[in-house]
Amino acid sequence: MEVIYQTGGVRKVVNPALLVIACDPRALEPVMDYTPHERALLDSLQNFTFYTTCLRVYPRTAQERVVILAPDIVESQTGLVQGYRNETAKQWGLPVANAAATNVVTTYQMVGVGGPSDPATLAAQRDAFLDSPPSWWPFQPGRYEIVQVDEDQDGDIHPAVNPLATPYFDQFTFDALAAGAPWRWLDLQGENDTVYVHASTCFESVLHCWSYLNILLGAKPELLSAAKDSAIVVIGAGVSGLLFAQRFIDAGYRNVTLLEQTNRFAGKTHSLQVPDQGGTSIAELGTCYLSPAYDDMVQALSEFTVGNARIPVAHGTGRGIVVGDTVMSFGDYGLMVACQYLGYGWPCSQADQDLAYLELVKAAGIYVALRFEIFGTVDGVMPVSRPAGDPYGIFSKTFAQYLDDNGMGALTGYLIYAYQVQGYGDLDKIPAYYGLVWVTPDMAWPFGETSGVTAWAKGWEDVWDQMVAKRRLNIQLNTEVIAIRR
Ligand SMILES: Cc1cc2nc3c(=O)[nH]c(=O)nc-3n(C[C@H](O)[C@H](O)[C@H](O)COP(=O)(O)OP(=O)(O)OC[C@H]3O[C@@H](n4cnc5c(N)ncnc54)[C@H](O)[C@@H]3O)c2cc1C
Repeated sequence: MEVIYQTGGVRKVVNPALLVIACDPRALEPVMDYTPHERALLDSLQNFTFYTTCLRVYPRTAQERVVILAPDIVESQTGLVQGYRNETAKQWGLPVANAAATNVVTTYQMVGVGGPSDPATLAAQRDAFLDSPPSWWPFQPGRYEIVQVDEDQDGDIHPAVNPLATPYFDQFTFDALAAGAPWRWLDLQGENDTVYVHASTCFESVLHCWSYLNILLGAKPELLSAAKDSAIVVIGAGVSGLLFAQRFIDAGYRNVTLLEQTNRFAGKTHSLQVPDQGGTSIAELGTCYLSPAYDDMVQALSEFTVGNARIPVAHGTGRGIVVGDTVMSFGDYGLMVACQYLGYGWPCSQADQDLAYLELVKAAGIYVALRFEIFGTVDGVMPVSRPAGDPYGIFSKTFAQYLDDNGMGALTGYLIYAYQVQGYGDLDKIPAYYGLVWVTPDMAWPFGETSGVTAWAKGWEDVWDQMVAKRRLNIQLNTEVIAIRR
């Protein structure tokens, strides 16, 4: 195999024993000799786009929430501002944020498959929102500054706008899923000395990248049988590339090179250090949260979290959901949607709410039992073997239809929060399979007030910084891959 690349004006050629695709594989179409089988898989991928901005804003009213998300806007997926996270409140608490003259917030904009994702359009939509915001925006209209950052402390100051108008949540179509695309991909891993570890192969979170590595190395132990001094080239130094490099270095490999096209590593993790309240707030332009499902991974990566800590984010009523002109707590919203689903209406009597709550618990029980029956495990994110046929319609039904048809419709409100507003797609449009992959049993449990969502006090980027330093990862930044011949 031959990989030709250019870095620092110098053209280089390497002959790796293993090629690791840790960027969106479609980005390599012009330079890589994909086989028809690989090309067919890539052609059936589609994706969303996620755009974020870090702003300094001026509080207008007392805030009760750290995070606010508007399901209707998320559902439209047209790039309108769909919510924000108050980074000041995340870092210092709501009382401090409320007493401060300015707060630091990160806004979210989501674009669906094929939607308008060019940065100029998204910036114009954001500015129009900020100049004339809806009532749930607790900051002064038209008064904001886009935070300016000098990330490398090299005098290159730029706006804290997410440069990641990059593919987010790559997903297979219904047809491709029904044809077993995720498992066809797993089968071809290692063929032509190539493996795919980017989130497009598994889902879209750090946990999924990490779990997929475990699945891959469990299913293909021969990947670790090459000589320890053989060259391994990883294309992309984002989350999945770094995790792969660390795992292989820990297995004894000494010649691992990461080729990264941008001037920084960490990919969609982008933790900004913003001066705030006399100290520093971390604004996460990309990767932010962890749930209890991340515990094993955090334990396995503990060497890289020294001095960092998981801090609770928006527990209790700190998470707000926009409903019309009001903002409800996540727990109330889940209960309201359950009551409406069961025909009790809203508001309704305490007795009806108690009945709805029982129904929610029952639905959560069904969810966990069915997920176990279909996936063969309660944990893990993707089943290693393809579920036979189309069990309960997971490949042919939307997530909402799957829930409705299997006695779990009462859970819809909770799952709109756990899934839809987090940017993983509309319950009415996304294949049920993806819902099951993302919503692990702990997330289905309707005791949302103590859900255990956390973030890193020093940001996710600190984890990758420690990994790169402690494993002395060889990352070639500003590198263009010119040709790959296998
Ligand atoms: C706004 C946002 C919020 C998120 N929140 C969370 C969260 O709360 N929790 C969570 O777990 N996950 C979250 N995620 C998802 C998580 O960040 C991703 O799943 C993860 O970053 C995927 O890692 P990756 O390596 O597959 O891709 P990336 O992180 O995108 O890395 C790919 C790398 O490849 C490089 N690259 C691309 N093309 C080439 C090329 N041709 N040559 C060389 N290099 C190339 C890119 O520059 C990049 O560095 C979030 C993502 C976004 C965008």
